[in-house]
Amino acid sequence: MCICKASEGIAQLLNRKWFLSRPDTLIQPVLISSGKPDAFDVHGLHFSSPKESKRILDSPGVFHVIRDDLLHPLMGGNKLRKLDALVPLLQSASVTDVITCGGCQSGHAAALAVACSESGLRARLLLRGERLSVPTGYNLISGMYGEVIYIPRSEYAERDDMLRKYAKSVAGGGTVVQIKDIRANFDGTFEQSQSIGIGQTSKKVAVVKEGASDVIALLGLIRLVDYLSQPCLLGSNRRLQLVIDCGTGTTAIGVALAIWILRLPWKVIGVMLVGALKDFKNLERKLLDDFKEMWHQDTDCGITREGLETCLEWVKRPRPRKFGNVLEGEIQTCQKVARETGILLDPIYTLAAWEVSSNLALSGKEETVMLHTGGTMSLFGVAQRYPSQF
Ligand SMILES: *Cc1c(COP(=O)(O)O)cnc(C)c1O
Repeated sequence: MCICKASEGIAQLLNRKWFLSRPDTLIQPVLISSGKPDAFDVHGLHFSSPKESKRILDSPGVFHVIRDDLLHPLMGGNKLRKLDALVPLLQSASVTDVITCGGCQSGHAAALAVACSESGLRARLLLRGERLSVPTGYNLISGMYGEVIYIPRSEYAERDDMLRKYAKSVAGGGTVVQIKDIRANFDGTFEQSQSIGIGQTSKKVAVVKEGASDVIALLGLIRLVDYLSQPCLLGSNRRLQLVIDCGTGTTAIGVALAIWILRLPWKVIGVMLVGALKDFKNLERKLLDDFKEMWHQDTDCGITREGLETCLEWVKRPRPRKFGNVLEGEIQTCQKVARETGILLDPIYTLAAWEVSSNLALSGKEETVMLHTGGTMSLFGVAQRYPSQF
C-alpha cells in the first residue's frame, strides 16, 4: 500500500476497525493574563478558559488544549489512542489473553486492562516491584480489570525474557504471538479474520510491549491528526506548534508522522521527560522503519527521516529532574490551573506540556496547541509519595 497521495493513502490506512467508535475530541482555548512571563514556571500567571469547542482569535497569550484527557474516565488519553488500532487487531487474530508490563502505577497497563475487558480479552499485567499497602490510582484500576502479577525488580530488568516466560506459562498448550507477527498477517481490512470457535479452549496469548510502543500504536495518532486537520477544527493551512509531553515518545512520533504524511504546516514539540535525546531519536528511526515496512513499500513516496525531523522537535522540560520527581510549587501550580480553567494536570507529565505551551504562547511567535495526554490518575500515585503537599 502506498500512501504518497495524502488524502487517498490516509483514507486507505484509516479504513480499519477501531476501538474508539469516533476520533472526536474537544478543543478548548486557554487565555493567559498578565503576571510576568517566567522562563522557568508559570507562577504569577493567571489562566482562564471559556469552555467552547469554537476557536477563539489567536493572539499572544492564547493557546488551545486538545482535551484527550476527557476521552475516557479510566484510560489515559494517549494510551487510548495508542490502543485504538491494536485492540481490534488482537480480536481479529482470535487472541484470548494479552500480557503487558509496566511500573507499579503504569497508565498503559491500566488502559490495556480496561480496553481488554471491554473487548472480551483477558489482560495479565506484570508490574514492577511489590504490591502497594493501599492500592490506588492506575494500580488499583489494573487490579480491578486485569490480573496483576508483581515482579521483583531484578527479574523485571530482563523484560523480554520475563514476558516470554509468563506468556508461555499462560498459554499452556496454546500459542504465543507477537504483535509484529499479527500485524504482518493482516492488511488492515481484516477480511481474513476468524472468530473464536465455540468451545475453543486453547489459548492464544499476545505480548504487548511496555507503553504499547509499537508501530501499530501510530495509527490511532494518525487518525487523531486527520480528525484535527478538518477546516472547522485546527484546519490544514495555518502554521502551528503542537506540544506533547513524552515518556517513550511514541505519541509525539505518531503525531509528527501524521503531520508529515498529511503535509500539514504543523510541528510537534516533544517535551522529553524520561531518558536522553538519543533514546527518542532511536525510537523515531525504529518506528519509521517499521512503518515503512508495514505500509509503505514504495520508497518513492517521500516518507523520510528528514521529512519526519522537520515536523518534530525534542525539547527538555523547563525544569529537568529525575523522572517521577515533583519539585516545589508544582502541586500548587496544578491546583491553580485546575481552579482557574477546569483542566486537571499532573506534575509528572502534563504540567510539563502546559509550561512549555504557556511559554510558547506568551512568546507569541506561532500558534500553540497542547495535546492533553490524560494521565489524570497518576495524581493518586503522586499523592502517595508527597501526601503533605496536597
Ligand atoms: C504514558 C503517558 C505519556 C507518555 O506517552 P509516550 O507515548 O510513551 O511518550 C505522556 N503523558 C501521559 C499523561 C501519559 O500517561
